[in-house]
Amino acid sequence: MKNVIIRKIEEIENWRRNINSEINFIPTMGNLHNGHIKLISTAKNDNSYINLVSIFINPLQFDNKSDLANYPKTIDHDIKVSFENGADAIFIPSTEDIYPPNYKNIKFLKASSELSSALCGLNRIGHFDGVCTVIYRLLNLIKPKNLYLGEKDWQQLLILKDLVSSEKLNVSIKSIPTQRDFDGIPLSSRNIHLSKNERKLIRFFSNELLEAKKIFEQEKKINLKKIIERLSEEKISIEYLEHLHPHTLQQSSAEDNISLLAGAIRCGETRLIDHVFLMKRRPIIAIDGPAGSGKSTVTKLIAKKLKLLYLDTGAMYRALSWLMIKENIDYKKEKKLQHILKDISIVFKSNTNSYQDVYVNNYCVTEEIRSQKISSIVSTISSLKEVRKFLVEEQRKIGESGGLVAEGRDIGTTVFPHAELKIFLTASIDERAKRRKSDANSKDSQEIDLNTLKELIKKRDFEDSNREISPLIKANDAIEIITDGYSINEVVDKIIDLYNDKIPKETEIK
Ligand code: AMP
Repeated sequence: MKNVIIRKIEEIENWRRNINSEINFIPTMGNLHNGHIKLISTAKNDNSYINLVSIFINPLQFDNKSDLANYPKTIDHDIKVSFENGADAIFIPSTEDIYPPNYKNIKFLKASSELSSALCGLNRIGHFDGVCTVIYRLLNLIKPKNLYLGEKDWQQLLILKDLVSSEKLNVSIKSIPTQRDFDGIPLSSRNIHLSKNERKLIRFFSNELLEAKKIFEQEKKINLKKIIERLSEEKISIEYLEHLHPHTLQQSSAEDNISLLAGAIRCGETRLIDHVFLMKRRPIIAIDGPAGSGKSTVTKLIAKKLKLLYLDTGAMYRALSWLMIKENIDYKKEKKLQHILKDISIVFKSNTNSYQDVYVNNYCVTEEIRSQKISSIVSTISSLKEVRKFLVEEQRKIGESGGLVAEGRDIGTTVFPHAELKIFLTASIDERAKRRKSDANSKDSQEIDLNTLKELIKKRDFEDSNREISPLIKANDAIEIITDGYSINEVVDKIIDLYNDKIPKETEIK
């Protein structure tokens, strides 16, 4: 598609009707900098959809007339950098195009009251309502598949996610981390208004936040009072500085693994916002579900795509069962069991196929633990109190610094109850039996007839769900995904979308 510039409403409606590709939409107010460029290039690299950038200074979101009048306008530069960095089309409407006289047919939106009553919403009355109104209008005109937004405006991002869900708009929101200038301050179109001294103060403020993040990584706590004192010593006028839950924007609690430290300061006429995410450990995804729901395949792929460690807890129970069979151990004899738990070492090692092998006491058991023989006893072994206690502790040790995706039956409920994302993956018994039968890795299953497999799966479900310790149950905060009729990749993509929705991209940056 050749580069097009669209200005009028009729033109954009016409253009949209004739486009038969999905659209990535990147709304901006112009004076584009590297933050905007990153949004455009991310959209371009994500897929082969058409990238539409809009440039529109939305008067409804300004609570200060001189701020609106002075908002920097650099349209020729904006057109050039948009096309250079991956835009296929640019929409540059006038105010009258977006808001016809008397606001005819314009739907005024209200931002979520919970989300807009914190941070910037306290002082910028009506600002987020204006943002919602313009984005709703643009989304209705453009009907994009994806909406690209910057985490620099984290509160705005949350409010627009809420808008999309409450208005049931069919668009996915993708975000990019805050892009910073060479001196650490977030890139912003308004930065050109800063005097040398103002820039110095902002640099001090941003660096204080970045420093707080570093300290938090070591000490796992934050001293807001001290930061406020240091800012005051520099005569920086603080509008707010808050430590909040990153999604609800309520006060952060000790249980939050990821929290938000956000502030706004005033320098002369200019008001600047900045934030950092504080993280105690890297994120954890917990995937639970019954046997044959596709957990292992899905979890492996997620680990690979998100560069997380893959913790296959089922393999740990299988590995232990394997050793019991090999050593001819009667698990009912407590002493023998304790003896084996004392000495066993279960280790995962990456192999050349970029998957991992399981080693028991230095012996590779990856294939052997998948046999029907192991499958038939693993549920009983894993229901033993001592076994669960031992392996849950091992799993928690592996998960101490996070950065992993674990699959099993009690990950979200017992092993990692504070996992950021909990998925309960399931499928009907028919579907699971069919999958087992065609599982190339399970030769034994291929030889069993479908009805017997169904009975075996039912029995396994019953045992897993009814055992005394850590039975298979869906955690209250887990998201259930029924995988019948979905391809593996569709399930993987869905879970990655949910992960991206919960975990700010910024937390991936060191
Ligand atoms: P604006 O032009 O200020 O309305 O911003 C348009 C989009 O660019 C919004 O989604 C902003 O969050 C995003 N954006 C602006 N500055 C930055 C930045 N420094 N880093 C990342 N995204 C940004």
